[in-house]
Amino acid sequence: MISLKTLFGDPGQKLVKGSQKTVEAINALEPKMGALSDEQLRDMTHALRNRIAGGDTLESLLPEAFAAVREASRRTLGLRHFDVQLIGGIVLNSSGIAEMKTGEGKTLVATTAVYLNALMNKGVHVVTVNDYLARRDAVWMGQIYAALGMSLGVIAGDGSWRYDAAHKELDEERDDTGSFHIVHEFLRPTTRREAYEADITYGTNSEFGFDYLRDNIAYEQKALNQRGHYFAVVDEIDSILIDEARTPLIISAPAQDSEDIYRSMSKVAATLQKDRDYTVDEKRKAIHLNDEGITRAEKALGVENIYTEGGIKYVHHLETAVRAQALFHKDKEYVVKDGEIIIVDEFTGRMQPGRRWSEGLHQAIEAKEGVAVQRESRTYASITYQNYFRLYEKLAGMTGTAKTSSEEFYTVYKLDVVDIPTNKPVIRKDENDLIYQTEQGKFKAIARAIKELHQKGQPVLVGTVSIEKNELLSAFLRQEGVPHEILNAKNHEREGEIVAGAGAKGAVTIATNMAGRGVDIKLGGALATPEQSQEVRDLGGLFVLGTERHEARRIDNQLRGRSGRQGDPGETRFFVSLEDSLMRVFASDTIKSLMGRFGIPEDEAIENRMVTRSLESAQTKIEGFNFDARKHVLEYDNVLDKQRRAIYERRRKVLVGRPDAVASVLTELAGESAEARAVLEKKEQELGPDTFLQAARTIMLQMLDTLWVDHLESMEYLRGSVNLRAYGQRDPLVEYRKEGTNMFKVMEEEFKGRVFETLDKLAPAQPGTPQGLAAAAPIVPVIPASASAGPQGQASTTAESELGRNDKVTITNGTETQELKYKKAEPLIASGEWKLVK
Ligand code: ADP
Ligand code: MG
Repeated sequence: MISLKTLFGDPGQKLVKGSQKTVEAINALEPKMGALSDEQLRDMTHALRNRIAGGDTLESLLPEAFAAVREASRRTLGLRHFDVQLIGGIVLNSSGIAEMKTGEGKTLVATTAVYLNALMNKGVHVVTVNDYLARRDAVWMGQIYAALGMSLGVIAGDGSWRYDAAHKELDEERDDTGSFHIVHEFLRPTTRREAYEADITYGTNSEFGFDYLRDNIAYEQKALNQRGHYFAVVDEIDSILIDEARTPLIISAPAQDSEDIYRSMSKVAATLQKDRDYTVDEKRKAIHLNDEGITRAEKALGVENIYTEGGIKYVHHLETAVRAQALFHKDKEYVVKDGEIIIVDEFTGRMQPGRRWSEGLHQAIEAKEGVAVQRESRTYASITYQNYFRLYEKLAGMTGTAKTSSEEFYTVYKLDVVDIPTNKPVIRKDENDLIYQTEQGKFKAIARAIKELHQKGQPVLVGTVSIEKNELLSAFLRQEGVPHEILNAKNHEREGEIVAGAGAKGAVTIATNMAGRGVDIKLGGALATPEQSQEVRDLGGLFVLGTERHEARRIDNQLRGRSGRQGDPGETRFFVSLEDSLMRVFASDTIKSLMGRFGIPEDEAIENRMVTRSLESAQTKIEGFNFDARKHVLEYDNVLDKQRRAIYERRRKVLVGRPDAVASVLTELAGESAEARAVLEKKEQELGPDTFLQAARTIMLQMLDTLWVDHLESMEYLRGSVNLRAYGQRDPLVEYRKEGTNMFKVMEEEFKGRVFETLDKLAPAQPGTPQGLAAAAPIVPVIPASASAGPQGQASTTAESELGRNDKVTITNGTETQELKYKKAEPLIASGEWKLVK
């Protein structure tokens, strides 16, 4: 069949072709812009804004705005946007994802579309993957915006700033090292609100998301920070909207729960043995206690029957303790630092201080490591990244690696991925994988290969999947006497600098796959002279060595993309072993027997196109699972999202609304009820309209928040319980939606009832100060336990374990669906090829 794409052309490529004319228009404006004085250039912003006020569209202003940005950049940074960078900007402005390889200069690409949209005076957000990059990019690009008279704010976990245009004089050091250094002098600390009031605000995804949530638990208008969600450009968009999409943002505060239960469950878990007492599903990061395990636990706890005596909560704690034992490893999923458990991000290898796993998992790990167990928390507000970013009127993104996930970007965000040609042709060589029988053998071979490259002088960037592997490899290299830099979660402060220097002659840098994402590697070193970079070019450029395939091809491509920037030479190769988890879980027996048949020694490789292909197909399969898992999270969050929007909208009306808006909410709530109307009338007379409305405002906010927090908790329980019903032939999502909607209605009635009841009892002269949720306890951002629980989370695992052997189930492998008895389906599901539909 001829696909629509071949018939009509790829819409993305059409956009690239179509933008050629616009690029010509921008180029034609260059002499005119070049002739402007600095002051005239700055005044462009004012002139363009006036034209918008006069009815001009952004589209019609695009060529001039882009030409102005290019000129400002040339004058301040000495960088003139390449034509392909302008095309990238055009794609961003049309709400697309500009796929541009590493080193193509995406930081600069964003400036054009950001400036254009900032002309609307509604604020533009630029989203980066970490605080370091938010500050770096703001300081770096800030000179362009300042030259155009635009204000710039930065928000980070540890502060907020305004770019200070007073430091306008050209600064040699900043221009040399701007691509990896943060120069703090150019940032003046301000309030968060001021940072958001700037024309443009740089910050991380989580800070933007948390500020949104914080605004929605605020009790005073002056505590609000964000001023709306107009346009966001998300850098490294796949990292943010895919890798982190299983992790909703949660604001919570401690609740009371004793630490004894965690300690005793942890002790019990330590006595249980894998396979004897429980099974581990590595793919799903779940465990399943068998009868023997439960009996053993009951004995240890001194109870007859854990289900009846302890209840579901006890069982939950026990299972969590076992998960903590079997699936979470020190220096891999977390590190212990200063008596605290700190989560290590699975993809970036970065520490995430201050973040906690939810549902008691964090406490279980604290108990396991023998550090102080902190109290459990209650959710005050939560949102998924998907739903946060869908708040924006206009959304756009950039990355080097989106193509393998274009379906997801389209279905979830309606974002098209547009492949932008590179400025210079890519000449990097991507070699086939080398395959070893054992991990030990593989690491020996890697160490040898690195030593050879190092002796020759060719710089090597080694990517690993975890801190643990970093250290293992480092030990091998020490043995071989190869000097090297290690980059892992434990020293990420220096990360930018180390990565920037990874291209120096003879440099060996070991990093977890994504560490230092966003930092450019220049051949010869960060501040190389032309001769130094030529020398490294002659040696073959940067060699990227992957020590394991990641679950997602995207992450591998990201690593490869570190080499061969801007037409540089380079080479990449992955070393894999049959003991790697991807291979263990997914490699077909054919491959295993193939290796055996050749009788190859452990540190000798085979290089086989077939094996590489089969690895890639395993990755495609896992990507599919993970996409499904994220869709799953989203489908559930969508139910809550509707409710959240309704609640937050009303909340905002009550909080910031003028008196008549508050009065209209009250009238709306009273509805047809004569009784309620009577209360309103009576109290308004008794207290006088001002005091009355002020009191009503406070009461409504408090009631709304109290009920909403309870509701959030009930929805969590509901979610767990609908999954238990899944085997009863009912779609858990449909059940969840139905019951969730009912619960919401009940809450609504409760809200009305309580508001009028409280109003009725209100005595004159006690207006009361607002007591927000936030005032009650410190609030903490949280990572839910299920976020790292692998594709399906715990929920569907429970459902499966509840299935009888003769129950009919439906399974799918993505292309084909079968209905059969569970006992027949079980081995298929275990193979990883098939998954349970219901
Ligand atoms: P990416 O985010 O696409 O990986 P960066 O924004 O980090 O790339 O930029 C990579 C390097 O390219 C930086 O050192 C930057 O100075 C340089 N660069 C970007 N655009 C240009 C340009 N138009 N002319 C010259 N150098 C550029
Ligand atoms: Mg970048």
